[in-house]
Amino acid sequence: MDNMVRALSESGGIVVCALDSTEVVKEMERLHQPSAVVSAGLGRLLTAASLMGSWLKNPQDSLTLRIDGGGPAGVLVAVSDGDANVRGYAGNNVVEIPLRADGKLDVGGAVGHEGTLSVMKDLGMKEPYIGQTPLVSGEIAEDITAYYAASEQTPTVCALGVLVNADLSIRRAGGFLLQLMPGALEEEITAVEKNVAEMLSVTDLLENGGTPEDMVHLALKGLGPEILEKRTVEYRCTCSRERTQDILASLGADELEAMRQENPAVQVECHFCNKVYEFDINGISQKIK
Ligand SMILES: [Zn+2]
Repeated sequence: MDNMVRALSESGGIVVCALDSTEVVKEMERLHQPSAVVSAGLGRLLTAASLMGSWLKNPQDSLTLRIDGGGPAGVLVAVSDGDANVRGYAGNNVVEIPLRADGKLDVGGAVGHEGTLSVMKDLGMKEPYIGQTPLVSGEIAEDITAYYAASEQTPTVCALGVLVNADLSIRRAGGFLLQLMPGALEEEITAVEKNVAEMLSVTDLLENGGTPEDMVHLALKGLGPEILEKRTVEYRCTCSRERTQDILASLGADELEAMRQENPAVQVECHFCNKVYEFDINGISQKIK
C-alpha cells in the first residue's frame, strides 16, 4: 500500500507531503531495540528524512539529517536515499528518562537542546550541500521548521509523531511537511494556517484510520488539492560487502597496517542495520598497495 502522498494546492502556492511511516519505524525498532523515548526521537527523524528526501530528483541522490543535541541519546542520524527510503541510528539506544509534565515522551530531553541540526544533501555534485541550524527544542519537528526558515528561506510546517506501545513496540508513526512556494497567496496562507491548527495530531489521525491522503486533503481543505504523486517508502539499508571494503581501503596504509598488526581479522558492523562484515586486513592491504 502507498504510504506517501504529495499534493499541490490549485494555485500551485502550497505543497504538502504526508507519510504513514509506521512500518518504517517498526523495522527500525526491530533492528535497534531502542527504549521508548529513543524510538520516538529516531522515528521522528526517520520520518522527517523520508519527507525531505522525497524532494530528491535522482535515485543516486541522498539526504542526511544529523542531530547533535548533547543529550543522553547521543547523535541521531537518518539518511534518505533518492527514493525516500530511509535508514538511521542513535548513538545510544537505551535512554530512560521521566515523561514530560504533559505525560508525553521527553524526546527533547533525550536528544538534548543545545546543539545543531545538520542537513547534508548529496546531489551527485563535486561537493555535497551542507546546511546547519541551532536546535530549537530537540523535539525534531520544530527543529526541521527552523532549518527551512533559516537555511532555505522556505516557510514550512512540519508535524511528526511516533506512538510507542507499553511493550516498546511501535503503534503508529507518521508526519507531514507543508511548504509555501514563492507564489503562495495571502488568503491561501491564512486558510492553510487555520486548516493545520484544526488538524488532530498525526498519530491521532492515523489511530482513527486516517491515511496520508486524508492528511493532505485536511491540510489543503478548500484550496483544491491535486495529488501529484503516491509512492511506497520503507526502511532500507544500502550497505554491502563491497562498500564496506571500500571504506576500509580508504582508511589509508598507516591505519590499515596498525590494524593488521593488532589483529588482521576485522569485523565491521553497519550502524544502520547491524549486519557484520568480516575481512582479512592482509587481503585489503594488498589490494591498495
Ligand atoms: Zn547496513
